[in-house]
Amino acid sequence: MIDTHCHLADPVFADTLAEVVATARDAGVRGFVVPSVDVVSSADSVACCRNIRGAVAAIGIHPMWGRFDSRSGMELAVADIASLATGNRDVVGAIGEIGLDPNLLPTVVEDRDRVQDSSGEDAIGRSIDLMIAQMELARWLGLPILLHFRGRVEGAPGPTISFQRLVDVLERFGPVRPGGILHAFSGSDQVASRLRRLGWLRGVAGTVTRPSATRLSEFIAKTPLTDIVLETDAPFIANSLHPRGQVVPADLALVGHAIASLHGVPFEHVIRQTDINAESLFSAGGSRNWRDI
Ligand SMILES: [Zn+2]
Repeated sequence: MIDTHCHLADPVFADTLAEVVATARDAGVRGFVVPSVDVVSSADSVACCRNIRGAVAAIGIHPMWGRFDSRSGMELAVADIASLATGNRDVVGAIGEIGLDPNLLPTVVEDRDRVQDSSGEDAIGRSIDLMIAQMELARWLGLPILLHFRGRVEGAPGPTISFQRLVDVLERFGPVRPGGILHAFSGSDQVASRLRRLGWLRGVAGTVTRPSATRLSEFIAKTPLTDIVLETDAPFIANSLHPRGQVVPADLALVGHAIASLHGVPFEHVIRQTDINAESLFSAGGSRNWRDI
């Protein structure tokens, strides 16, 4: 199995990393994609992956971690990600996680005094700029992308970003090569086939293992296995075994079993196909560490 999204460089694993990786291998996980959220954590992901066989770093600036002194500071941060990628091609396997999320929009200090409209449109525009700059970087480097998307502020009114708007932006950008993953995807099937044509796979996380996730389960049941990759988002996205904050890559089998029962096929069948999907995506990225999985 390949965990296409596990935050192994997160401080929560600092003292237990070797054990967490060994337990995951015992559970059948042989490949790990380790995402980052800003320039510092991208360097941490690179360092972390150097010590783990079959691990590659996804480096980039997450929409909720974009804090810049100026607009040129934002561009410089993307340039830092570019030089980290070119200097560490042996372990950098993707750009991510990048994307859109209205919960904490990127800020630029020089913009703070400007009157923001209540829709958050200025900040959403900045978020889109940051995402596109990093997608262009991925295109230039020939690396796949891990994309995070959330459209609403949780539990409170606030700016929203419609899924249709994301799709419009992605369609305007055009096909991603070698491809990308819509991490923890929960969108609708109307647009899924359009996104697939542009090169986007869907990452299925532990949410699908929870009995309450009926809408997502119905959607995953209809999604071809050729369009899916597995992920835990460890330690974050809760599954039927572990709450948020305690998830480990060894939980990946739970996700595989949930998809197998939704599709009515053997577990091994799900793993074989999703491994093919993940392996072809990340081997196209050319990271040397990936050859060791
Ligand atoms: Zn994540």
